[in-house]
Amino acid sequence: MYAEEVAEMAGRIRDEDIALVRERTSIAEVISDTVTLKSAGGGNLKGLCPFHDEKSPSFNVSPARNVWYCFGCGAGGDAIKFLMDAEHLSFIESVERLAARAGIQLRYVEDDRSAPRTRPQQGQRQRLVAAHAAAVEFYRAQLSTAGARPAREFLAQRGFDRAAAERYGCGFAPDAWDLLTKHLRQQGFTHDELVTAGLSRPSRSGSLIDRFRRRLLWPIRDLTGDVIGFGARKLFDDDDGPKYLNTPETPIYKKSHVLYGIDQAKREIAKQGKVVVVEGYTDVMACHLAGVPTAVATCGTAFGADHIGVLRRLLLDTDAVAGEIIFTFDGDAAGQKAALRAFEDDQRFVGRTFIAVSPDSMDPCELRLAKGDLAVRDLVARREPLVDFALRHMINRYDLDTVDGRVEAMRRAAPLVAKIKDREKRPEYVRKLAGDLGMEIEPVQRAVLAAAAGQPAGGATGPARSGPVTPTLDSPQSMVEREALKLALQEPVLAGPMFDAVEAGEYRHPVHQVLRAAVAAAGGVATATGGAVWIEQVRDACDDLAAQALVGELAVEPLRIDGEPDPRYVSITMARLQWGSVTGRIKDLKSKIQRINPVSNKDEYFALFGELLSLEQHARALREQAAGGL
Ligand SMILES: [Zn+2]
Repeated sequence: MYAEEVAEMAGRIRDEDIALVRERTSIAEVISDTVTLKSAGGGNLKGLCPFHDEKSPSFNVSPARNVWYCFGCGAGGDAIKFLMDAEHLSFIESVERLAARAGIQLRYVEDDRSAPRTRPQQGQRQRLVAAHAAAVEFYRAQLSTAGARPAREFLAQRGFDRAAAERYGCGFAPDAWDLLTKHLRQQGFTHDELVTAGLSRPSRSGSLIDRFRRRLLWPIRDLTGDVIGFGARKLFDDDDGPKYLNTPETPIYKKSHVLYGIDQAKREIAKQGKVVVVEGYTDVMACHLAGVPTAVATCGTAFGADHIGVLRRLLLDTDAVAGEIIFTFDGDAAGQKAALRAFEDDQRFVGRTFIAVSPDSMDPCELRLAKGDLAVRDLVARREPLVDFALRHMINRYDLDTVDGRVEAMRRAAPLVAKIKDREKRPEYVRKLAGDLGMEIEPVQRAVLAAAAGQPAGGATGPARSGPVTPTLDSPQSMVEREALKLALQEPVLAGPMFDAVEAGEYRHPVHQVLRAAVAAAGGVATATGGAVWIEQVRDACDDLAAQALVGELAVEPLRIDGEPDPRYVSITMARLQWGSVTGRIKDLKSKIQRINPVSNKDEYFALFGELLSLEQHARALREQAAGGL
């Protein structure tokens, strides 16, 4: 579960306010921002669907019923759902957007179960965003002044024409102390607002001056496209500041979350299920212009866990969990360091992380200049799995012509293989490593097993266990099913009716289904008192050897929670389990709807469509429950 979703739950919007937002929102107006609509007769409107490629309009909006639906791809819902899908916003963000548009002041329900949340006062965000929007206009106008010539030259030398500069909103901070500050003060922004926004700062004499001077500026936007800060490149030799300067931490600019280019890249990231992480503003521009529209960059900080959180939402919004993160590096040394660090970061992403190292130590911007757009696309296409990359670099440091060198390389590389979460892939890497080292498989395998024993996998803190008899742990759905079954076996009193309410059909993995059925056959969790007798009853009810073995394993495997499990944890686990199954059914239903001819089978079409809408509603409720509500 994402921390930000939990935080969101803590500031839940009152139901009556959500209803008011729905009522006061013109669905046609909201959709018209992104889709051109024309009359479809009967008061309805139609246009080209933003969610699938089409040449004739099958995307319909009914202002009277306050819904939209697409006959082509089966997408549909209300105005909130439209913003969620089209802009990749969360439910809360969508409601906030629509509320701002309709001039509705939202009220939030504080959730006392969670830590108090420091939600900025309502209105402050809007003021800071407005100040930035005014600053973007000011800086953009400055870019065509005489003093901005070095800025224009900088862009031109890197292959960016005027249209490119426009598209990214590039600007110039003039050679003046307080031109922007005065301009914004005249527009009614207060001293405090400008300081809080990071646009101005107090000088030594106490007067307010501009933060950026004599620099080329890139506006940095959040997911929704609002400008929340700037990146500023040094242009003059006598500027003794750092090469790049960014907006400091503010209530709206958190550098650990910010990804430059995300506003332009998010649709393609979601569509392609992949994201390319580059190192600078010019690299993002170069990639987008070269036909790699999924590129983003961190701003003045290394790629970290919070960035992964932002991207997960986009990547998981596609149908599977198989999103790819591709890092580009312009030098082998830097790349190696970063790749190895990635092993330490988010283990869940190791298997889906790829490395693209550009030739001749060029960054994507330089590569595009020197060799053209195709070379940039080729760089990304030639990506290599992180594990392969890391292993290659690890063993290349040793002299493999000597026995000592080979043994040492094996010792250093074994822990990397042991860290691979996807256990099914380990044997493959053991063989590969043995081949690369020119050694027999057995000693390499022993070294990997020894390394694995030293670090229990799966985040469990219990004693080292023998290998599981299990289905693989690489899929989040398998993991959550396993967790639910552990709760049923280890904490039946706690799991109680919440566990029993979710039937075997909601489990995806066959052996989990067998085990779930065995729990029911043993009388159900709600009647159990726990202990060894209960475990025995479930084991006896299994008519499958694999399931019997799994009972023994799950009865002792530590729960994936720090501290004692509580009803909230059971609720979250069961919601996540069902969410996986509901999203699977939604996928099936969508594909079924897609195969129906909506004209000749109108009744069936609308019946299925209604079913889809209610399933989607159910999925949303489960998602909220999974995010921590009860
Ligand atoms: Zn469509």
